[in-house]
Amino acid sequence: MSLIKAEKIKKDYQAGELVITALNRVSFEIEPASFVSFVGPSGSGKTTLLNLIGCLDKPTGGTLRVAGADVASLNRKESAAFRGTNIGFIFQDFNLIPVLTVYENIEYPLLMVQSVPAAERKKRVTALLEAVGMIDQKDKYPDQISGGQKQRVAVARALVTNPKLILADEPTANLDHKTAYMVIELMKKMRDEFKTTFIFSTHDQKIIGEAEIIYMLEDGELKGKEVKGGGGDE
Ligand code: ADP
Ligand code: MG
Repeated sequence: MSLIKAEKIKKDYQAGELVITALNRVSFEIEPASFVSFVGPSGSGKTTLLNLIGCLDKPTGGTLRVAGADVASLNRKESAAFRGTNIGFIFQDFNLIPVLTVYENIEYPLLMVQSVPAAERKKRVTALLEAVGMIDQKDKYPDQISGGQKQRVAVARALVTNPKLILADEPTANLDHKTAYMVIELMKKMRDEFKTTFIFSTHDQKIIGEAEIIYMLEDGELKGKEVKGGGGDE
């Protein structure tokens, strides 16, 4: 069964008198353990779509199923619980908590959304620090590490709750090309290791090729799909 199934989804925003159609007739299916990118110019609907998949907003038309749930039918509380168990988020500006160490930033979601015993927390956080190559930096604060390292921490933080799906809206927009490439490679490695589906958006031509499935968005509509050979083992 597919992890995500979107059928003719539509998203209208009401801006005063004006209705802005941000997404229109968008249909696609994403299988578990995929490595997917939504690409398109600024304003093409990438953030809107990721917000819908992430249960942060609801479609105004069509149906969207994520991990077995009909997104439109969840109330606020149910959406929050659904995100807490199923979805991890990675942000363009890293969103690390400045007063917490690298270790504590990764541990944070386990304290907030899932009640995981202390010993298990330590095990998971340490394993992820190793996996993203940040174990030596675990006691540093966000302002003591580079942008690329911050995003490594954010990748670990997104994985710590064992989500089915990680959403990353332009995760490399604040990184130089070489670092951007390394962060995408890290995400792919984590997909291989944990079988977590990764969906990222970008308008950076240089990293688009790193995705295994690429969906092209233009003016809120899907204009194409490209599937690269030699991807995951699903
Ligand atoms: P992208 O992430 O690809 O740049 P967005 O999803 O942010 O695109 O935006 C798609 C379209 O929807 C744009 O025309 C944008 O101006 C509009 N839009 C996005 N969010 C809102 C909002 N909250 N209210 C009104 N219009 C919005
Ligand atoms: Mg955007």
